[in-house]
Amino acid sequence: MQAPGNPDETIFDKILAGQIPAAIVHEDDHVLAFKDIQPQAKVHVLVIPKLRATSLHDLKDRPVAQIGAFMAGVARVAEKLGLAQGGYRVVLNTGPDAGQTVFYVHAHILGGEPLGRFGA
Ligand code: 5GP
Repeated sequence: MQAPGNPDETIFDKILAGQIPAAIVHEDDHVLAFKDIQPQAKVHVLVIPKLRATSLHDLKDRPVAQIGAFMAGVARVAEKLGLAQGGYRVVLNTGPDAGQTVFYVHAHILGGEPLGRFGA
């Protein structure tokens, strides 16, 4: 974890450290999941790995087990949210062109209703 006051510290570092509140829906050894503050679907939850990375791109050289634990965590959270049967969309905005605004890697889980075709 980064030191308090670190200029690179993001809002998600603070949520993970319990320094600011969030509507937490799941926590285990590998991931923390909480509701997005501006939901874009009936269900909109963000999943972050507990081991910090800036973006998906930053994960490319990490141990496969670490990346796998993050991805399995995303699926476990979706199941816990009751989305396994109906399905769900996972979005990982990576870098400025993708619209990433919080530079702590996070997966958006969107679902709970038909989402329409991606990009339409
Ligand atoms: P990005 O655009 O980086 O992919 O997504 C960042 C997401 O974080 C946005 O959907 C935004 O609504 C959400 N977000 C920003 N600040 C907070 C916050 O303080 N709490 C929560 N729960 N979500 C936040």
